[in-house]
Amino acid sequence: MTTLSPRSTFLHGQWTSQDAALLYGVPDWGKGYIGVNAEGHLTVMPTKDPAKQIDLHEVIVGLKERGIHTPVLLRFNDIINHRLREIRKAFDDAMADQQYAGGYSCVYPIKVNQQRHVCEQIAALAVELDFGLEAGSKPELLAVLGLSASAGGPGVNGMPIICNGFKDDEFIETVTLAAKLGRNIIPVVEKWTELELLVKYAKQYNVRPKIGLRVKLSSKGAGRWESSAGVRSKFGLFVHELLAAVEYLKKHDMLDCLNLLHCHVGSQLYDIRVFKNAVNELSHIYCELVRLGAGLTMLDIGGGMGVDYDGSQSAWSSSINYTVAEYAADVVYRIKSVCDGAGVKHPRIISESGRAMVAYGSILIMDVLGSSKFESNPDMRVIEAIIAKERAGGVEIPQPVLDLLEAHANLTDRNLLEAFHDATQARDDAMNAFSLGYMSLPMRAVAEQLVYALCQKILERATKKGDLPDEFESLPDLLSDIYFCNFSLFQSMPDSWAIDQLFPIAPIHRLDEQPTRRGILADITCDSDGKIDNFVDKRIDKTTLELHQLRDLPGEGQGCEPYYLGVFLLGAYQEILGDLHNLLGDTHAVHISFDDTPGSRGDWEIDEVIEGDTVEEVLKYVQYDPEDLKRAMRLDIEAACKQNRLTIAEGKSLLKFYDDGLEGYTYLEG
Ligand SMILES: *Cc1c(COP(=O)(O)O)cnc(C)c1O
Repeated sequence: MTTLSPRSTFLHGQWTSQDAALLYGVPDWGKGYIGVNAEGHLTVMPTKDPAKQIDLHEVIVGLKERGIHTPVLLRFNDIINHRLREIRKAFDDAMADQQYAGGYSCVYPIKVNQQRHVCEQIAALAVELDFGLEAGSKPELLAVLGLSASAGGPGVNGMPIICNGFKDDEFIETVTLAAKLGRNIIPVVEKWTELELLVKYAKQYNVRPKIGLRVKLSSKGAGRWESSAGVRSKFGLFVHELLAAVEYLKKHDMLDCLNLLHCHVGSQLYDIRVFKNAVNELSHIYCELVRLGAGLTMLDIGGGMGVDYDGSQSAWSSSINYTVAEYAADVVYRIKSVCDGAGVKHPRIISESGRAMVAYGSILIMDVLGSSKFESNPDMRVIEAIIAKERAGGVEIPQPVLDLLEAHANLTDRNLLEAFHDATQARDDAMNAFSLGYMSLPMRAVAEQLVYALCQKILERATKKGDLPDEFESLPDLLSDIYFCNFSLFQSMPDSWAIDQLFPIAPIHRLDEQPTRRGILADITCDSDGKIDNFVDKRIDKTTLELHQLRDLPGEGQGCEPYYLGVFLLGAYQEILGDLHNLLGDTHAVHISFDDTPGSRGDWEIDEVIEGDTVEEVLKYVQYDPEDLKRAMRLDIEAACKQNRLTIAEGKSLLKFYDDGLEGYTYLEG
């Protein structure tokens, strides 16, 4: 027997929005930020306060009225604020509980989401929370130096700035001068030459820089980024190099500058035990270096605090088996016990938790353009008419079609298995006959429709009975619909394609209605990889998503009523890893917050609209000149008009579509 997911076994009673919340796992992965309201819409609670809910469907309708169409990325600054405060509080609580004296700062590695609006906000809050920023490359360093200056306030010069990644001469010189400017900047040595450059510029400019060392641990990370740590890691110094660094700095009378020890075990560390081992090893190295005379005051445990994408709270790649509070408690406990054991003063703990800070902050909303599916109730009159016409034309009705007609007519709860075997047999026979030229195209069409209708009915009846025999295991996938969605997987959720990362997805409205279809999602790129056929679930590999039947709008070619899906937890890494596959560019991004200023209507408001790429912009990016393109089109249209292939008016219309198209959104605009 195949057990269906507990989330999909709703069988009786009146369907409510709460059933939908459970079906899509909203409370599991939403962690209090996402809810469902009585109208059957998904809501965002940016501060986890149920009194301050933002109705996502209302936002999308409101944006549409303002001419901002889906796909659109919604960013919630207040969620990011809330996450930062949650991390601060977790460490404050852990340090108070365990009488830890060293202090804590979280530094935000901007590579996780470099969007100016995101970084500015974090930089501003960092001053209050005693947090900082991290740069991993030259462009990021320049951004971080500017960001930390414009964050303003007295705390700016104290804001820790950590520099990781490979550094050249110019990089180190800039860092040295920034230290002289008064910034609390800490370059972390990844390879030996960087240390030599640091000493060189420190002397040249007469500064005493703060220096960090990154060590290759022997404990390995776990999961996808396993190779970020361990002795084969691309980054960091071997232990013998650490010792040589101590000697080198001593020789140059700079051992007091060696202030920070760092490692980064990997991202999305799903198993806390693995991480604890790494922190333990790092703490021992720290204490040894202190014993050898280094002026260490900071222990930087790197990033890796994970996010529970699928809501299962398990040691699984799209999940984590710990909470922020447990993470903080474990880190503080490990470091404290090792340092107390060695009689070493508690260091300031630094973590570079990028994903954990920003993942919850962004949500993509996309519209469904249509679906492709087989009917479970094909119009039998149409099928009979086709058969009659073929007969009249002298075609003998092939045996598989006759078998299918009979199986279809005689299906009962008792003969499901038999009917299923007949249907699969008839399908194979029909396809063979067609390939050998013994079956007409209309007969093949009839056979296909009957097979799908039969399988659909078999599945419905079996599900109603409560369990699925193993034979039927493949049916839900076989029969699932394809929902075509207005987005590019490669632009908006690249990790779904690159590393099979799961992101929670759910309709943002109609949740008071039981979904009756199952489907996979396809994007509008012409790439067959541009699809989502893996969905979050606590227990099972879920290959189709429950969806609502699309409602056709009246009139031919009018398409369907708007149906919107939300993709959640996209704030970390996705925005910047996205690419221009099929020249589909950045989506619009809109910053939304809850307006609770006294006298306001207590509702959502738009803080910022960042328009997505236009067609012209993406074409320029690949070196096209839009003016050249327009000129070429104009000449061709002119020639066509001269030869009377187009009227002047038609030519004018075509040129206008072309011009408008270049200025327009790269996605389909409904
Ligand atoms: C990527 C990276 C981080 C951020 O990791 P998260 O998993 O997002 O917390 C931190 N430190 C370094 C050195 C990194 O390369």
